[in-house]
Amino acid sequence: MKKLLLTLTMGLLLMGCAKNDNPFFETYKNKYGAPPFDQIKNEHYMPAFKEGIKQHQAEIDAIANNSEAPTFDNTIAALDFSGDLLKKVSSVFYNLYSADTNEGMDKIANEISPILSEHNDNLYLNEKLFARIQTLFDKKDSLGLNDEQLRLLEKYHRDFIRSGAALNPDQKEKLRQINKDLGLAELAFGQNVLDETNSYKKIVDKESDLAGLPESVRQAAAEAAKEAGEEGKWLFTTQKSSFIPVLQYGENRELRKELLMAYTTRADHNNAKDNKPVINKIMKLRTQKAQLLGFDTWADYKLDDTMAKTPKAVYDLLEQVWIPAVAKAKEEAADLQKLMDAEGKGEKLEPWDWWYYSEKLRKAKYDLDEEALKPYFKLENVRKGVFELASKLYGLKFEKLDSMPVYNPDVEVFKVTDANDSLIGILYTDYFPRAGKRAGAWMNNIVDQYKKEGINHRPIICNVGNFTKPTKDKPSLLSMDEVETLFHEFGHALHGLLTQCTYPSMSGTNVARDFVEMPSQFMENFCWEPEVMKTYAFHFKTGEVMPKELMDKIQKAGTFNQGFINTELLAASFLDMDYHMRKDTTNFDVTAFENASLAKMGMIPQIIVRYRSTYFNHIFSSDEYSAGYYSYTWAAVLDADAFQAFKETGDIFNQKVATDFRKKILERGDSEDPMKLYRDFRGADPNPDALLIKRGLK
Ligand SMILES: [Zn+2]
Repeated sequence: MKKLLLTLTMGLLLMGCAKNDNPFFETYKNKYGAPPFDQIKNEHYMPAFKEGIKQHQAEIDAIANNSEAPTFDNTIAALDFSGDLLKKVSSVFYNLYSADTNEGMDKIANEISPILSEHNDNLYLNEKLFARIQTLFDKKDSLGLNDEQLRLLEKYHRDFIRSGAALNPDQKEKLRQINKDLGLAELAFGQNVLDETNSYKKIVDKESDLAGLPESVRQAAAEAAKEAGEEGKWLFTTQKSSFIPVLQYGENRELRKELLMAYTTRADHNNAKDNKPVINKIMKLRTQKAQLLGFDTWADYKLDDTMAKTPKAVYDLLEQVWIPAVAKAKEEAADLQKLMDAEGKGEKLEPWDWWYYSEKLRKAKYDLDEEALKPYFKLENVRKGVFELASKLYGLKFEKLDSMPVYNPDVEVFKVTDANDSLIGILYTDYFPRAGKRAGAWMNNIVDQYKKEGINHRPIICNVGNFTKPTKDKPSLLSMDEVETLFHEFGHALHGLLTQCTYPSMSGTNVARDFVEMPSQFMENFCWEPEVMKTYAFHFKTGEVMPKELMDKIQKAGTFNQGFINTELLAASFLDMDYHMRKDTTNFDVTAFENASLAKMGMIPQIIVRYRSTYFNHIFSSDEYSAGYYSYTWAAVLDADAFQAFKETGDIFNQKVATDFRKKILERGDSEDPMKLYRDFRGADPNPDALLIKRGLK
């Protein structure tokens, strides 16, 4: 099998060489329209980007200069289906730029960022084009459009206004410059975080400093050291899978402190990678842009097209969860301090103690040791578990494809089909950390779903993670947090896979930011349910299913440490909002601002905000989640309430509710207002009680 694959790959490569072709310029020949990752090289990107922009611009000009009167088809639909080549190269480039980057790609990203932002402006600031959209918008109710088309027209109109289409020429020029500068500043932010994460290495050479660490953690650290040319020592990094186990189990308090401080001060040193000046630049540009577009603040601007709609609605929601969360965190801190007092060292609880003592408390209170659970969470089994869950809920089937080209040997490819064997889409999984992969976990579209000329084009979706790597003699065994993350990203993948929309810009996960986390967090609700655990929690050595008493313990410990988790998360949400409520565009002291924001909300000193400013990638490495980190909590209200719909039937796999959830939410993309979709599914407004109860806050 392997040999056949090799021959095939070589054949393709040779063909590529002879014709000296750029794979982006040809129709992908792989099955399911998958990109030929085995042939794509750095030198293919720039020519494809440039040609893609040229072709897209020609299409835009043709639409704008059309002598026929504007219609939905010749203007809105034409725009939505334009830019094929550009989409093709962008999706591959940005997927790999996050998951498998190299120095050459960093250069390309820097070079293409201002060009793309200019192209984007050429689209949204095109006066003739906007005039056509405005004409259609003014008579939208008499055009005989269906709901999806009407929403698409309204969306284009709003996006054009939000992008400056209604500004005067001077203002438009100013906006173009801001967009270009902002794109570069955000890029610099993300690169600084990545560089700082990759450059930190803590070498431990005394085994006694590893006291308390489980064997699997020592082994991974020893292998990492060996890879770095430090055989016989142990290496730790600021990757979560490396340092979190030290925080949980390491008896050496100094080591815990050193690693946590290294993690929480990334890009916060006065050197070339310092993100404090970058934040100043970003904030100034964002505030200027919002004000140019007629909003008071960036938060007002960003929230205008979300489910929440206003900063007030966001602060109101955050307060509702924050107050009980901090109260709970204070109780938890007191419990942990008691454990420390019992040791008689006279130490006071500090942030680098929280994981360590909460792990002890978890053992004492619930007799639950995370390390004892890990053998039951072999990555391949957990993945099989989510596949089986999708099969139980929606009848989906997953088949591994061995002959698809991948960009890294860690990547695996699956064909997803419906109960009636029709193709749903293709799923790539890429689960292990490596240099060149950004921290965290995410889902991406490689190819969008849409319907055109009677053909329903099915999507290609990627799930990326940074899960615990297999070692010489152990497979990848996940922590509870990693199991939840895998379920979460798979939830995004299902949202991307099951979509049944007509227009590409509305399909799959192209929904409001504060709605997009709902289908992903919804899946997390299933992972500790005994009926679900029975399908994936097998001991990696014996194959035995996790004993019932261990499952019961997990259930019982479900609300453990929730004060900490919620406080950490909500503090980051408040910090994000506070930044983006700024009206002032002068320089400011980032550290002082962060401290003042945390003090104002009443943060407790034993907990560090989940993301400190200098590595808060969500809000500073792109616009996407700026004034949007609250979305996780907003969506959590929805996902807990949605799961309640299953629980109320007494059957978490209830077919009627599952079909409703699929048809009314997962298949609908952005084809309808998300609050309307939700009400249609639930028959009522979302109720926050389910969330507060689930997290032990009520
Ligand atoms: Zn997510």
